[in-house]
Amino acid sequence: MHLKNLTQAPTSELINAFRAIVGSRHAITDAQAQKPYLTEWRDRYIGKTPIVLRPGNTDEVSQILRLANTNRIGVVPQGGNTGLVGGQIPFETGHEIILSTGRLNDIRNVDAVGRTLTVGAGMTLTEVQAKAQSMDCLFPLSLAAEGSCQIGGNLATNAGGVAVLAYGNTRQLVLGLEVVLADGRVWDGLRKLKKNNTGYDLRDLFVGSEGTLGVITAATLKLFPNPGEGATALVAMNTLGAAAALFRHVSEQSEDLLTAFEFFPHIALEFVTTHIANTRMPFSVPHPWYALINTSRSRADETSASNIEAVLGDAIDKAVITDAIIAKSTAQAHDLWRLREGISEAQKPEGGSIKHDISVPVDSIPSFVTRANNLIEKMCPGARPVPFGHFGDGNVHYNVSQPKGADKSTYLAQWEEISHAVHDLVVEMGGSISAEHGIGRMKRDELARLKSPVELELMRSIKTALDPNGILNPGKILARPTNT
Ligand SMILES: Cc1cc2nc3c(=O)[nH]c(=O)nc-3n(C[C@H](O)[C@H](O)[C@H](O)COP(=O)(O)OP(=O)(O)OC[C@H]3O[C@@H](n4cnc5c(N)ncnc54)[C@H](O)[C@@H]3O)c2cc1C
Repeated sequence: MHLKNLTQAPTSELINAFRAIVGSRHAITDAQAQKPYLTEWRDRYIGKTPIVLRPGNTDEVSQILRLANTNRIGVVPQGGNTGLVGGQIPFETGHEIILSTGRLNDIRNVDAVGRTLTVGAGMTLTEVQAKAQSMDCLFPLSLAAEGSCQIGGNLATNAGGVAVLAYGNTRQLVLGLEVVLADGRVWDGLRKLKKNNTGYDLRDLFVGSEGTLGVITAATLKLFPNPGEGATALVAMNTLGAAAALFRHVSEQSEDLLTAFEFFPHIALEFVTTHIANTRMPFSVPHPWYALINTSRSRADETSASNIEAVLGDAIDKAVITDAIIAKSTAQAHDLWRLREGISEAQKPEGGSIKHDISVPVDSIPSFVTRANNLIEKMCPGARPVPFGHFGDGNVHYNVSQPKGADKSTYLAQWEEISHAVHDLVVEMGGSISAEHGIGRMKRDELARLKSPVELELMRSIKTALDPNGILNPGKILARPTNT
C-alpha cells in the first residue's frame, strides 16, 4: 500500500486565508521571526515554511486543518520545538505550514478529588508541574527540556524522562485527549475515567503519533499524591555489570519508591565538569561508572535518606559498589542531578556526536554497551562512546563523540553507517531503535528497514484511514513516495 502524496505549495490567496483564521498578529511570515520555528536543538534540520500559524483555540485549529485538507497543504504541528528527531521541522521544499500550539495554554478543569488536571496542549511541562504543585499534587513527567517542551508535544512523542521507572512514560499519565482530525473534525475524548473499555483505544493511538494522525489540542492528565522528601545518591562502580547488581539490590532492599536509576561513565563526568559551569568532580578519585539514584517515601511528611544510607552501606559491604555520596540537602541533590543532566550539553564542545536513543532489556545493558563499544572501535578508531541514560528503563543514550582533533563534518558523515551497525545490534538483542524520542524524520528510513512488513502495513493503514490526503506532518514516521 502506498501513502497518498497530494500535498502542494499554498498560493498567496491561501496564505492570506490561513492568516485570516488566526489574525495577522499570530501569523508569522517574516524570515527573521520564523527562525526559531525552523531550526531544532541539534541544528540537524533547517526547514522552510511560507507561514507559521499560532491559533488561540480549538476552533481555529479546526478551521486551519479544514482549509489545509481541502487544498492539500501539508501541516507540521509544533509544540516547544525541543524534539530530537526532526519531527517538528518542515521539509526544505517550503511547501508546508507550521501550526504552533503555544497559545493553546488554558486550564480547563481542576479536580483535586479525582486528581486530574485538564489543560490546553500548549502549556509547558514546567507550567503543568507547577499547577499540579498548587493542588498539592505531583505531575511526575520530568525531563531536561521541561521549561520549553509543551504537554501536547510530550503526548505526541510519548516522552519518557527521569521518572518513568516509578510512574511510566507520558502514555501512562494521560486519561483523555481532545484532538483535531485531518479534515477539521474535533474528537472530544477529554474523559477523566480510569476505566473505559469501549472498543479500540483512540487515545492511545494519538499518543506517540508525532503529529501524523491529528493535532492534540487539550489533555486530561493524571496527578499523583506528593511524595515525601526524596533521597538522592551518586554511586561509584567498577563495571556496568555492577549497576545491574545494584539496580536489583536497591529494588529489592529499599523500603522506598525507586523513582530514578540513571547511569553514566567517567568520560561523561569529565565532559560535564570541563564544560558546564558550577560543576565539579564529586569523588576524589575517578571511577569507571556511576549511578544516580532517587528514592522517595509515599507520604509528604516522611524522608527516605536513612533508608538509602543503609541500602547503599550494604552494597559497599558486599563489594557491589566502591563509593557513594548521599545528598545532604536539596541544593546538593540538585548539584548531583546537574552532573547527569549536563551530559548532552557538555558533548557539544567536544565536537560531533553520533547519537542513538535505544532500549534493550535491562539485564542486557552491560553486554550491549560492551558490544557496541567494540563495534565503534573497529569502525572508527578513537571515537569516544558516552553511553548514559535511564538504566531502570533499559534506555541507553548511546552517544559517540568524535575522536579528539578529528574533523567534525568528516566524522558526522559516518552517522548513517555507524547507526546502521548500532541499530542492527539493538534489534539482534531484542531492543528498540527509539526508546523515548520517537521516529520523526531522523529514524524514518531505519524504521522502514527494521520494522516487520506486517507492522509497517498496519501503520500505513492507520495513517491512510485518519489522514487520507496525507496532509498531517507528511514524510514523518512513514515515508511518502515522492516529493519530500
Ligand atoms: C535538552 C533536552 C533533553 C531532553 N530529554 C528528553 C528526555 O529525557 N526524554 C524524552 O522523552 N525526551 C527528551 N527530549 C526530547 C523532547 O523534549 C521531547 O520529545 C518532548 O516531548 C517534545 O515536546 P515539544 O513540545 O518540544 O514538541 P516538538 O519538538 O515541538 O514536537 C515533537 C513532535 O510532536 C509533534 N507535536 C508537537 N505538538 C503536537 C500537538 N499538539 N499535536 C500533535 N503533534 C504534536 C510534532 O509535529 C513533532 O513530530 C529532550 C530534548 C532536549 C532538547
